[in-house]
Amino acid sequence: MDTITEVKARVYKFGNKKADGNSEMKNLLGGKGANLAEMSAIGIPVPPGFTITTEVCTEYNSLGRENVIEAIKEEVEESIEAIEKVMGTTFGDKENPLLISVRSGARVSMPGMMDTVLNLGLNDEAVLGLVKRTNNERFAWDSYRRFIQMYGGVVLGMKPQTKEDIDPFEEIMEHLKDKRGIQLDTEFTIQDLQDLVYDFKDAVKKQTGHDFPTDPWDQLWGAVMAVFDSWNGNRAIYYRKMNGYPADWGTAVNVQAMVYGNMGLNSGTGVCFTRDAGTGENVFNGEYLIDAQGEDVVAGVRTPQQITKLGSERWAELAKIEEADRAENYPSLEELMPSIYAELNDYQQTLEDHYSDMQDMEFTIQEGKLWILQTRNGKRTGAAMVKIAIDQLKEGVIDEKEALLRIEPNKLDELLHPVFDTNALQRANVIAQGLPASPGAATGQIVFFADEADKYKNTILTRIETSPEDLEGMNIAKGILTARGGMTSHAAVVARGMGKCCVSGAGALKIDYKNRVLRVDDKEYHEGDWISLNGSTGNIIEGKVATMEPELSGEFGEIMELSNNYSTMQVRTNADSPKDAKVARSFGAQGIGLTRTEHMFFEVDRIKAMREMILADTIKGRKHALEDLLPMQRTDFEGIFEAMEGLPVTVRLLDPPLHEFVPHQLATQKELAEDMHISLSAVKNKVAELQEFNPMLGHRGCRLGNTYPEITEMQTRAIIEAALNLKEKGIIAKPEIMVPLIGTANEFIEQKQIIKETADKVFEERNDSVEYQIGTMIEIPRAALMADKIAEHADFFSFGTNDLTQMAFGYSRDDAGKFLAVYLEKGILTHDPFEVLDQEGVGQLVKMGTERGRVSKPNLKVGICGEHGGEPSSVEFCHNTNMNYVSCSPFRVPIARIAAAQAAIKSLN
Ligand code: PEP
Ligand code: MG
Repeated sequence: MDTITEVKARVYKFGNKKADGNSEMKNLLGGKGANLAEMSAIGIPVPPGFTITTEVCTEYNSLGRENVIEAIKEEVEESIEAIEKVMGTTFGDKENPLLISVRSGARVSMPGMMDTVLNLGLNDEAVLGLVKRTNNERFAWDSYRRFIQMYGGVVLGMKPQTKEDIDPFEEIMEHLKDKRGIQLDTEFTIQDLQDLVYDFKDAVKKQTGHDFPTDPWDQLWGAVMAVFDSWNGNRAIYYRKMNGYPADWGTAVNVQAMVYGNMGLNSGTGVCFTRDAGTGENVFNGEYLIDAQGEDVVAGVRTPQQITKLGSERWAELAKIEEADRAENYPSLEELMPSIYAELNDYQQTLEDHYSDMQDMEFTIQEGKLWILQTRNGKRTGAAMVKIAIDQLKEGVIDEKEALLRIEPNKLDELLHPVFDTNALQRANVIAQGLPASPGAATGQIVFFADEADKYKNTILTRIETSPEDLEGMNIAKGILTARGGMTSHAAVVARGMGKCCVSGAGALKIDYKNRVLRVDDKEYHEGDWISLNGSTGNIIEGKVATMEPELSGEFGEIMELSNNYSTMQVRTNADSPKDAKVARSFGAQGIGLTRTEHMFFEVDRIKAMREMILADTIKGRKHALEDLLPMQRTDFEGIFEAMEGLPVTVRLLDPPLHEFVPHQLATQKELAEDMHISLSAVKNKVAELQEFNPMLGHRGCRLGNTYPEITEMQTRAIIEAALNLKEKGIIAKPEIMVPLIGTANEFIEQKQIIKETADKVFEERNDSVEYQIGTMIEIPRAALMADKIAEHADFFSFGTNDLTQMAFGYSRDDAGKFLAVYLEKGILTHDPFEVLDQEGVGQLVKMGTERGRVSKPNLKVGICGEHGGEPSSVEFCHNTNMNYVSCSPFRVPIARIAAAQAAIKSLN
């Protein structure tokens, strides 16, 4: 059997203004552990503790529980002793017990995705010690019942069995509340709490067959292993997949002395942000609750109060609460505990300055002493991300390069989504008001359960509160609405991270899961009814509301401008219409890298001519049909060239399999036969003749142009005539004619000759000329291998990585969906290769093609126009391959621009 032999630290201590680790050690200590160490070292009051490394998690996965305990036992015992010294308490002691928390902490924050156990160390004896020490019997028993509940759920698997069930412990509590005729947890008497402890333990014994563990060390090992197990739980796996984090990272485990926010009115707990995570505004903000534990704030069971006076006033305005009423019933921490607030305000500034980024902090006040439990770079919306980066640049906190590196390119997508039309909003019927937890506009049909979020095309997930189990559904839904919970509730934090519209804490909503009804005052909304959410104001609106294009902020323009200072690659767009071309230009596209001409033939008035061309048996017949298509194509190109005035436009010759154009329905076949004055059976025969077993590898691309040269002739003529027509109007067009799907140099040479001859003919007819280039797609593996031979004849290469991926993997683009999902789930593939370029495999072909091409033509222009051209990691690869440009769909242009600048910055370092 494998055992662990080598000697190295697996446990790192922190606390008392000292630490074994630091913030650089995120991979080993996890984000939380590294930050706790760093905070402790810079003098922030962190409850003492230790971190078991992520490597131990990996060891656990391969070697199992007993071996891992054996390997870390001594270090853990030593670390517990260190905590005992700082806190003046003893683990498992009857008189003065040390209580600890056990939390997960991966190298990146995965909020709520893994498990936590609090109050560990309590048992029937230790609880009496806690009573003595705190002189607070109620608090001690309440902590004990919370511990059993949490440990039971996380470590012993005491969870609801179906989605309609409630938590088995909650059920016991509800039962007792009914019996006692009370409503709130806070109304339980000490005797009630003691009864609950007894009943909880009884329930554990009944359901698991074992007694609840009383030895604190057994409890500790159980919790540590449960945290390791939660790394491979469904929630964590889904979150990893969504964000592309590999499974072998593992999670660290943080064990820390407990501090209590629920020890009376001079205790409390809260979450705060050094800047606004929704808008990016530079204002300290957050929420707290008096006499509560941390999860009470995040779970949103009680609606928390604001930390600052300013935040409190803003909140009251939204909640329509009078100032006097607010000040009395919902005072801010600033007003209620001014000296604690001042201390907290100092720490938030220290921490933001230290990390030079917006921080998301958790704190607890235990009987008048402030403890900072954790800090991390705060999750934020796309808009906040851009604003904070630009603001911190202007404040001189970070430099231009860092500002650009702060942008997560894919998050820019959020800024480009539609917002509610201001006119439509004026007519909107606002039925209730919640907190503007995550900005954006969402319209959808109500669903009440996360696993039904895909029941309709657009859904609004409507919950009393959300929990980490709801993550997948939250991701699918268009918007999230909760009745409970503040700006730092699970729903709010996760939604902001996803860039998803969310309205939280709408107290007027009464949600009835059983009958699937949402009630607001005397109105009812059922599952499937339409509602709209305005995540920027917190408005909940009846029915659908029209949307409009967003207005981009000044900061967005500034960050885009900044990217030009660094990127060495150009960003072009894939556009088939003047409209798309204009959108892309407004986002800063520097040309068109791919116009797919086949898309132009699918329009109703053209498909007929196209079909006639395909069905024609003679060159004469084909040419006749092509003559009809010529003027249409010319107008298309004129529109696109005009929209891209002066910028290069790559037009690709016809590519799709011909059978896509022929009619498959009898009625259309009859119509075509009549139009062409041929028999129905002739049409049917032709359709059958064109049928291919594998159209993706069939009669498409330059194989069409080489078998039907008149198509290439017509398209070239349309391109060149369009450019000449614009020239007459004083508009410069820069066409680049691109041949698709070549595998041999001869295929290209043959097409090039037709293009050249046709262009020369047009120049002669018009007695005028324009500059143009002739290049090729590199999308068949053989073309990449033969790139030096092909480059001798080509002005440019454009990598078609969609086809290159298809052919290198041997996965049909049309059919891969059937098995790719399973491959991703099983980890056979880490990414969908059609989405993220497979750098190590397909990437070799791209690299080789570029290098070989430039051997014969050193200045060969090289770009990419497959879908990967707008995917950040693939853009970085293209930069490192020395490409001249990437080309992507219009809405991905800003993403590619930032990714290109980031790649250039990274290669400077
Ligand atoms: C490609 O294959 O990458 C490409 C851009 O062409 P299409 O997707 O049209 O086949
Ligand atoms: Mg292709």
